[in-house]
Amino acid sequence: MKIQPIRGTHDLYGEELHKFTKIEKVVKYYANIYGFNNIITPIFESTDLFKKPLGDQSDVVLKEMYTFLDRNKSSLTLRPEYTTPIIRAAISNNLLEKTPQKLFGIGPMFRRERPQKGRYRQFNQMNFEILGSNDEASDVDLILLAKNILQDLLPEKEIILQINSLGDKDTLGKFKESLKIYFEKYKFDLSDESKEKIDNNSLRILDSKDKKDIEINANAPKISNFYSEEAKKYFNIIQSLLDQSSLNFEINNTLVRGLDYYCHTVFEFKTKDLGSQDTLIGGGRYNGLVKMIGGKDISGVGWAGGIERIMMLMHDNQVEEKKVQLIIMKKELRDYGYKLLNLLRENKIPVHFDYKYNLKKSLSFANNSNYEYVIIVGENELNNNLCILKELKTGSQKSVSFIEIIKILKK
Ligand code: AMP
Repeated sequence: MKIQPIRGTHDLYGEELHKFTKIEKVVKYYANIYGFNNIITPIFESTDLFKKPLGDQSDVVLKEMYTFLDRNKSSLTLRPEYTTPIIRAAISNNLLEKTPQKLFGIGPMFRRERPQKGRYRQFNQMNFEILGSNDEASDVDLILLAKNILQDLLPEKEIILQINSLGDKDTLGKFKESLKIYFEKYKFDLSDESKEKIDNNSLRILDSKDKKDIEINANAPKISNFYSEEAKKYFNIIQSLLDQSSLNFEINNTLVRGLDYYCHTVFEFKTKDLGSQDTLIGGGRYNGLVKMIGGKDISGVGWAGGIERIMMLMHDNQVEEKKVQLIIMKKELRDYGYKLLNLLRENKIPVHFDYKYNLKKSLSFANNSNYEYVIIVGENELNNNLCILKELKTGSQKSVSFIEIIKILKK
């Protein structure tokens, strides 16, 4: 059998890698406009960094982390998400002396989930975090930034923004208690997975995709009935700022997100084009998390977006490139052809050369690979100090000097 990558992982090359690079470019462009600085952190961290913040009972911690003992017996984990490592890095490097600190990162995450379309065990995320602001505008800035990035990359796709508020600690505490009492009544009807969550993780039952659970969830207590005055006010301001920015959104009271650290605003950008793995970007506010990780008691808000899921929705050939191939007809002409090749590269013109010295084979490769031009060097060209420039789409060709060819291709 052919050697394959590990289940749930994939190699990126060709068209897919073009898409990936384009996403990175667009992300960096908007990061600059919205004033975020890039940060790159190690892909593994101490296991403790994730356990408590993500929640002892969260699916990620219970089932999905790639955790291993180092040779000195310390427990390490391949990062399953980027918010906690970015906060850890901000604390480690004293970046939180100046707030707000606006940071973004792009890179691979690791979760041992059941692989399916749009769900991998190693996947790439872009992450944006604002640390140290309680202003409603910081939540809205992040939502607008996400919208800009998605609109730029997927201009023709219908993308839905859903928002919810989880309220403050008080709201959440009361809400979880009341959910527990409600779900207790249905403990024989809920799915096995949800049944286990009644005591410690009742909020997550609202996330369930099980048909019966969804029916039970329909009549579950609503978080909006538990908001404190402060939580209500915060959520109202978010909505009015979104309205002012002409951003359409839906309120989804069952949106709770998978990790433990959220409070107040939570949001998701969803698509109907990807089946069950329909969330492209998700995030929210996480007051208390920075302190929990070992920093000052400052608030934070952020989001994570799945790069592979966005790639799945992008068209092929979004990256326009002028592709040029040099064909040297015989090995005896190599010195002359190689001089031209070097000259083109010195002038920053990308050229492909296949080392084959075979006109027929190279021409057919260029045609099949959508090359725009081929440059042909034969005996005649050597004798006259010229080369042939052939446009493949039209088939037209002309003999030109080295100076001329650079002028044409640089345009
Ligand atoms: P989360 O950190 O779970 O909120 O995920 C944020 C985003 O990352 C999701 O909306 C997805 O777009 C993407 N994502 C999460 N898990 C996976 C996965 N296993 N495979 C691919 N993309 C994922």
